[in-house]
Amino acid sequence: MFASPIRLHYNWQTMNTPAQETYDVIVIGGGASGTALLYTLAKYTDIKRLALVEKYADAGLVNSNAKNNSQTLHVGDIETHYSYKKAAEVKPASMMVARYTERLPEEEKQKIIRKMQKMALAVGEEEVKALRDRLVHLKEIFPTIEGLEGKDIAKLEPEVMKGRDPKEPVFALYNPEGYAVNFGELSRSFIRATKERASERADILFNTEVTSITKNGEGYRLETNNGILEARAVVVDTDAYSLGFAKSLGYGKEFSLIPIAGTFYFGPEVLRGKVYRVQDPKMPFSAAHGDRDIDAGGKTRFGPTARFFPVLEARNYGSIGGYFRASGLGKWKTWKSFYDILLEPVRFKYLLKNVAYEFPYFGRFLFLPEVKKIIPTMSGFSLRRAKGYGGMRLQRVDTNTKELLLGEGKIIGHNIIFNMTPSPGASVCLFNAMRDACEIEKFFKNEFVFDKNRMQQDLGCENLETGTDVSLKANYPA
Ligand SMILES: Cc1cc2nc3c(=O)[nH]c(=O)nc-3n(C[C@H](O)[C@H](O)[C@H](O)COP(=O)(O)OP(=O)(O)OC[C@H]3O[C@@H](n4cnc5c(N)ncnc54)[C@H](O)[C@@H]3O)c2cc1C
Repeated sequence: MFASPIRLHYNWQTMNTPAQETYDVIVIGGGASGTALLYTLAKYTDIKRLALVEKYADAGLVNSNAKNNSQTLHVGDIETHYSYKKAAEVKPASMMVARYTERLPEEEKQKIIRKMQKMALAVGEEEVKALRDRLVHLKEIFPTIEGLEGKDIAKLEPEVMKGRDPKEPVFALYNPEGYAVNFGELSRSFIRATKERASERADILFNTEVTSITKNGEGYRLETNNGILEARAVVVDTDAYSLGFAKSLGYGKEFSLIPIAGTFYFGPEVLRGKVYRVQDPKMPFSAAHGDRDIDAGGKTRFGPTARFFPVLEARNYGSIGGYFRASGLGKWKTWKSFYDILLEPVRFKYLLKNVAYEFPYFGRFLFLPEVKKIIPTMSGFSLRRAKGYGGMRLQRVDTNTKELLLGEGKIIGHNIIFNMTPSPGASVCLFNAMRDACEIEKFFKNEFVFDKNRMQQDLGCENLETGTDVSLKANYPA
């Protein structure tokens, strides 16, 4: 049983220096994942005391920041490394974000989401054949998707065909029903919506960094730079940092993290939408793509690059220590797993090339061949490093099986959940929140009710293809 909640005075004026307080649920991390969960708990449950704890002064400033990711609502249509099954599951999970924004005032919606055409581009016979085959299956999941030959690609994305060798076979999957999302704005929208409906039940504690989590009876005690907080249940939504917290409590000891930094180059406005490339199945990271940027107007963003860099947070060198603590590099089996995964010849060559893309001045010329696969006429002089852009993709490794685990991961402990959320974590944030709300309901043995049906009705998260409820899957989607 849970200890009964202590109710101490909490003053909104002194948000940055909270008095000691006990909550029913504390969510740590104010990115898309944590804010989506706070919103879900505030709107669809009757939990009495909620808090979101975020170390920075606002929400959505780390991986969910529009500068740090590719702004794509991943639904599985142009992600050629997703199996059909995964595409069928990710689509309804991600579309919850689009459905959420439909109810917002037009001005707020415009800041968060834009309809944007998307393509997956195949170049060369092998890729073209693979993409043609894929179209047959995808059509069942995405009725609006079409296959385009070169002349049709030229009508929709002229620069993709300009200057291309006419003998080179090309083919594209095209979906006019794509979306670009500013996940940072989305996070702030969840915070606003929570404040509007549940300010008396939910405290939002910015500038509050959790330094340790310890077990406290049935619940947890959180040490922060602003004092001690207690919670009957905790959800750690700190993406790359979550595994470190899990390990400090004895969970997830078998996992390590391969830290892949993703940075970008800017080019002139040459694309109308998003152009992805066919993914090499050996590569765990998506191939560099071209995206019309919805935040930095008038530019196309190319990337992300993929470079091994041992930090948990981009441009935060203080997070090196956290990486070494979380990754278990003191263990031989971690090194053996890294050796097997990273020295696989195709990956090793790819990672080496990506180091070169970061060289000052010359990096853009070395990166140019990647861009030319999308825009054949691009010149190296037109590219410039997107300074201050890019994030960290921490890929989990199971050191027992030496497997690289793609997609998000979740560890469910005793009244605590740890979410690790690389791509498509931001796209599926509401779906993930729905799953966590189900777990929290179980933690509290139905003392609080989660109105999942209402959430599903509001946000349309039923898996329309199979008629099954995707939220029941325990291993989704990694
Ligand atoms: C290069 C790149 C491209 C990507 N492209 C896409 C894409 O196109 N589409 C997509 O869906 N996904 C994409 N992703 C993945 C996406 O960015 C993540 O899935 C998503 O942002 C994760 O959200 P989050 O809330 O879990 O983490 P974050 O947004 O990183 O939020 C975690 C929060 O936890 C806070 N925090 C950390 N430690 C503490 C602490 N000790 N105390 C308090 N607070 C703490 C941080 O300050 C941060 O605000 C991309 C990622 C990268 C790196």
